[in-house]
Amino acid sequence: MADSKINEAQLDAQLAQLEQARPWSPRVMSKFETFIRSAADFDLFRVNPVQFAAERAIAEAEGLDIFLHAAKVGLFEMDWHVVCPHCGYVVDSMHSMSQLRPHYRCPTCAAEDDYALDDYIQVAFSISPLVRDIQYHHPELLSVEDLYFNYRLSKDVLSPVPALPSWRDLIMHITKDLRYVQPGENVTAEFELPPGDLRVTDGRACLQLSMTDEQNDQPSVIPIRLVDGKFQSDDLRMQPRSLTRYTAENQPVQFGFDLARELPSGRLTIELDNRQDHRSALWIFHPGQLPIPVLVLRPGLSGKKLLTTQTFRDLFRSEVISADETLSIKDITFLFTDLKGSTAMYEQIGDAKAYFLVRQHFDALSRVIRERNGAIVKTIGDAVMAVFDNPADATSAALEMIDALNQFNRTISQELILKVGIHRGHSMAVTVNERIDYFGQNVNIAARVQALAEANEVYITADVFDSPGVCDALKAHDVVAAEALVKGVSEKLHVYKIGHHHPA
Ligand SMILES: [Zn+2]
Repeated sequence: MADSKINEAQLDAQLAQLEQARPWSPRVMSKFETFIRSAADFDLFRVNPVQFAAERAIAEAEGLDIFLHAAKVGLFEMDWHVVCPHCGYVVDSMHSMSQLRPHYRCPTCAAEDDYALDDYIQVAFSISPLVRDIQYHHPELLSVEDLYFNYRLSKDVLSPVPALPSWRDLIMHITKDLRYVQPGENVTAEFELPPGDLRVTDGRACLQLSMTDEQNDQPSVIPIRLVDGKFQSDDLRMQPRSLTRYTAENQPVQFGFDLARELPSGRLTIELDNRQDHRSALWIFHPGQLPIPVLVLRPGLSGKKLLTTQTFRDLFRSEVISADETLSIKDITFLFTDLKGSTAMYEQIGDAKAYFLVRQHFDALSRVIRERNGAIVKTIGDAVMAVFDNPADATSAALEMIDALNQFNRTISQELILKVGIHRGHSMAVTVNERIDYFGQNVNIAARVQALAEANEVYITADVFDSPGVCDALKAHDVVAAEALVKGVSEKLHVYKIGHHHPA
């Protein structure tokens, strides 16, 4: 059921553009159009493209592609959002990657975290208001329940307790009070509370009251004012405070509250005075003594996955990380290639012919990288640096590159011989020369491992070899374990040399 208006002319024009963008598998375009026309408003808000594809039996890579192209032609708007691992609320949402920062404080629960591009930085797609107007384009018109339980809460949080239907239900269960407070309005909320934490937020500021094991004999009264997006109180025991709480695994989590205090448990009255010239969305919830959860999200388009998607690199070249920021990636796979003996080739056949061949070799490699869900970071002379989300994809890509080049060699008089290296690990993503690039020891190691390879060889590190799916990808090849000392790394590296393909 469609609950909002569609701009037919706009939709037709942009669907036509999308159809031309690349060849699509049968039925993909029609599934996409049906979705835009008939999905409920909420389903068109922050669409998770991985889930979209899975639910419609569309290959994941094509699912990502259709949303990236749809964003490019203006059907959808790309939304980078940061999800709080401890409450599941959207900490920040932005239209451009350049607005991302590595450190956030959650406005809903006050948890402070450093964010890596792997997990809690997600990319989703909302229908453009020019194509179809949905109610989530106008959060100010939503009911306060819709605002907190649909709009601000990530759609992708999985329940940490399998017996419970959803995280959303658990959030609703611990909600003590939820209402809009008009400018100048005073509200009073009364509770009877056991020991544990009570939090108050308006979606920007957050305060915490911690009930101790002591029981009060008369009600505690907490006066609070909302001024300029901040909580204030005349209760002098209410102070800005950093607190540590622990997860079930006993990992510390830092919280930075605008105001916090301890008080005996029992009867409590909160008096809130909204001294702002705009409405406040007040939410009071009671995590009590629950350990701090570390929430898991459904598979989706993480920032890392987007960066390792060639279509994103092609369509959104100007999308970069802010020049002042360095974003961490916990685990990414690097593949380096180089051509053997290219200097001699330039010497033998001349620059123009040699460069022509090198260009064709780049085309062949980039086809393989795209097909294996990777992205080219840059070329350095005759060398290619590429990134992959999945080490098994990188390994298959390396083997297919060598095959592709051997095929290509049959059509030319000159032989192009490839040497490939792969490594995975933590890295830092930055912008250099208006392009996203990667830094860190693991990038250096990947380059050094590539330098170990001889003609038609792939070297992978033990970290890659031990990854899921890699052994399968290698099963028709000679694999030799070795140890290598490389420049800049003090310990010997465990590496594997992947040699010739066994004839079937
Ligand atoms: Zn939070």
